[in-house]
Amino acid sequence: MGNLPGPLERLVEELRRLPGIGPRTARRLAFHLARRPADEVRALAAALAGLPETLGTCRECGNLAEGGLCPICADPRRDRGLLCVVEQPENLAAIEETGAWRGLYHVLGGAISPLRAIGPEDLAVDALLQRVAGGGIREVILATNPTIEGEATALYLARRLAGSGVRVTRPATGLPVGGDLEYVDRTTLARALEARRDVPGED
Ligand SMILES: [Zn+2]
Repeated sequence: MGNLPGPLERLVEELRRLPGIGPRTARRLAFHLARRPADEVRALAAALAGLPETLGTCRECGNLAEGGLCPICADPRRDRGLLCVVEQPENLAAIEETGAWRGLYHVLGGAISPLRAIGPEDLAVDALLQRVAGGGIREVILATNPTIEGEATALYLARRLAGSGVRVTRPATGLPVGGDLEYVDRTTLARALEARRDVPGED
């Protein structure tokens, strides 16, 4: 680059930080925005500028939220006896899109990964155990990603939840191994959630 007007150059630099956006895509987006009406560009800028102040974390489940509770935890129609454990808010969003889940969620914030030095203490594991110990939960479904790290995390959680008196399950096999729940087609995901299997938790 280098010969772009300053504002465009700065925009390209910022866009390039986004996942999946290489230099060419960043440039294409920047030129596109340069052609759009000022109102439209300002609306985009306002939506971005408000994020740090308006978007926080749900105090119940760890989902993204505006204010203290996310819309799911705040919804009285959800079954509070069912808890679906996921790694990230985008996994939660993927499950919500299926319409197949009527319970609540618990967002871990990642998966256990010795390679990346992420242990249970870096994730919302204690918060999960506390929620379960608080009573009223009948089943915890461990919907971590179908990756080696996700599987290891599910097994770890199953062990920690053993003896808690709640049913511990995992989505049925049939999810593509090595992927992220986000990229699983919604029909497959819904089916895997419905046909879940019990996870033995003994040591
Ligand atoms: Zn929530």
